[in-house]
Amino acid sequence: MFSKSSKLFDQSKQLFPGGVNSPVRAFKAVNCDPVFIESAQGAYLHDVDNNEYIDYVGSWGPMIAGHTHPAIVQALYEAMQKGLSFGACHAGEIKLAQEVMKLMPSFETIRFVNSGTEACMSVIRLARAYTERPKILKFAGCYHGHADSFLVQGGSGIATLGLPDSPGVLPELASQTLTAEFNDLKGVADIFEQHKNQIAAIIVEPVVGNAGCLLPQKNFLAGLRQICNETHSLLIFDEVMTGFRVAKGGAQALFNVKPDLTTLGKILGGGLPIGAYGGRADIMKMIAPSGPVYQAGTLSGNPLGMASGYASLQLIQAQGFYEKLEQAGQFLEEGLKEAAYKARTHILVNRCGSMISMFFSNLPQINNYKEAKTSDTRQFANFFQNMLADGIYLPPSQFETWFFSSAHTEKDLNKTIKVAYQSFFRR
Ligand SMILES: *Cc1c(COP(=O)(O)O)cnc(C)c1O
Repeated sequence: MFSKSSKLFDQSKQLFPGGVNSPVRAFKAVNCDPVFIESAQGAYLHDVDNNEYIDYVGSWGPMIAGHTHPAIVQALYEAMQKGLSFGACHAGEIKLAQEVMKLMPSFETIRFVNSGTEACMSVIRLARAYTERPKILKFAGCYHGHADSFLVQGGSGIATLGLPDSPGVLPELASQTLTAEFNDLKGVADIFEQHKNQIAAIIVEPVVGNAGCLLPQKNFLAGLRQICNETHSLLIFDEVMTGFRVAKGGAQALFNVKPDLTTLGKILGGGLPIGAYGGRADIMKMIAPSGPVYQAGTLSGNPLGMASGYASLQLIQAQGFYEKLEQAGQFLEEGLKEAAYKARTHILVNRCGSMISMFFSNLPQINNYKEAKTSDTRQFANFFQNMLADGIYLPPSQFETWFFSSAHTEKDLNKTIKVAYQSFFRR
């Protein structure tokens, strides 16, 4: 059933390291070869062997309104007629920026870049320059892109592949990145005590999506805000994943905590490569050319990304958009739990809106990376393969979050639950 994919993967392995252009796509953690996608429409992926899948990856986040949404395709088509890239100012940048600011009032000014990695890398440079402090604090299992400073106890592919911190990162730099456990305020306070006046910023995924889905406990985010206020460190929310995903205004709106700076990506581009960072104007004014902190990009603010991003942000503002996602999420969560119960399989489901993950763990709760790592990854791999064979495309790792979209119907969710039930039995 995967013969054409197999052939293409053989070819890819000659061309790309590990056969892929981003590590988790290689399906290594689930002990099988990747399928090659031919096309994507709404909630579905089609592979080159004519298999259809209900998709729970959503291109790793951007596809909150489903694949190939006609409004986004139309916006792109119209933008394309006018030019693919100008490398110059245009009104499309203003349109998207104003939309972001309307939805996320913590953005007083914004800078567009081309990926979440770029946004996070740039925002840390800015935080260090603004505070004149060298260190940053991140949380184990959080992923902030692949810039050197962040490849310390990282999530996503680093967690999936069980890699230690990456070679090639200078120890001098890695030592400037401090790590705490998510949801451990006391641990954060201790680190601040040990590194007085040294920490430029805390960077956090306010709902973690890259270690599986981890939810912030009550007062955790507010506690970080307070620590930053007291120590004059900056609070940075990495909302590359959660922005426009967990709520129209991101996690900062959902939990009502205002960061100093925020990074965005994924949904912001509606499927095209994009990133952005922004926040307090007094900090952002340090960015070149208004200030000395250098950051630039040939394709930044390109007209296609701006157009698809703007169209994407219109879609999420439809009446009841997030309420429907929440209902679907509840339905899926309850269905999976019930299926597992009936199949006598112990699972834990963590969910925030349309971000959901299912851990094969015996713990009563999973609140941080250390606990997430107790999960049975072999059981997940087996489950993943069974689901894939029956037309459900999950993220190929215990440590990635599933996403669904407004295009997923009750029928899709029901099928997913049914296939999951059967998959629990097939060991
Ligand atoms: C995906 C992601 C990034 C990196 O974004 P890229 O566009 O892949 O570079 C950074 N932070 C978080 C929270 C992410 O989920």
